[in-house]
Amino acid sequence: MAQNLLHRSVAASFRWVSHWSGAAVRQARAIRQPRILMYHIIGDAELSVRQFEWQMRFLRDHFEPISLGALVDRLQAGTTTGREVALTFDDGVQNQFTVAWPLLRAHQVPATFFVCPGLIESGDWLWRTNLRMRLNVLGNATRADAARNAGCMATEIEAIMEWTKSLPMDARRTFEQDIKSLTADFTPPRAQMDSHAPLTWDQLRQLGGDLITIGSHTRTHPILPTLTESMLQDEIAGSRVALEEKLDRRVDLFSYPNGANNPGVADMARRHYRAAVTTIQGMVAQESDCFLLPRIPAGENRAAFTRRMHRPTA
Ligand SMILES: [Zn+2]
Repeated sequence: MAQNLLHRSVAASFRWVSHWSGAAVRQARAIRQPRILMYHIIGDAELSVRQFEWQMRFLRDHFEPISLGALVDRLQAGTTTGREVALTFDDGVQNQFTVAWPLLRAHQVPATFFVCPGLIESGDWLWRTNLRMRLNVLGNATRADAARNAGCMATEIEAIMEWTKSLPMDARRTFEQDIKSLTADFTPPRAQMDSHAPLTWDQLRQLGGDLITIGSHTRTHPILPTLTESMLQDEIAGSRVALEEKLDRRVDLFSYPNGANNPGVADMARRHYRAAVTTIQGMVAQESDCFLLPRIPAGENRAAFTRRMHRPTA
């Protein structure tokens, strides 16, 4: 344990030295491969507003921020320069309208927002965010009981959350319903509302198309490999139709919820979109499959960020 801690702090110090000396930036610039960055919420414990603004200045200074659609154009034409970086935001939550968008506009950095039209329509929260908050307010014994009744032997919140990802849709809905009735009085705290509630159609219509591309993140954010063919069709193809009708703009980019896909899921995406992004960590290569594009999670501090720009899996 102590050794592990020591190892971690040595590794962290090394990252800072590498960052401040400029070595990390030089290494990143030397690698001529496009990057797609993955974001969710700006201004929380993981990624502060200051850090995000620094990242945008950094990207403008050292790389070429372009839209994901423009990057796909270049990949298909074989004309990438390896300086491209495309920003993506998953889940379509309030924070992206109130915090991320004004910052992107101020710095003139394009981005793609992957949103779920079913959640926008119903106003429902991302099922995972909602379930996690509700599990969190349950007592340990009640939570363990509820999980056990549903066939899950785990008792810790994150382990239960992990187990839910493997459930068929019906079983997952039943479990969510059980937890909902156990926490009937629950309302999310204000700060969570401000950041995690879904965007509204009106907000999405305000996002300027020159800077913000709207992509689909399915209708309701299910784990796609657990679905039947007809559900897949509705979540993947139906979500595009819904977004295009409501927003009157073209939607041809897709993001797999939680990155989860299999050959059947990817084939469905191929039939209905121009490209799709995953959560596989890596840089884009000229020969990358445009329906399995890797992304880089934005680091929580400068050192972690500059390191991931040349070592995406670090
Ligand atoms: Zn998501």
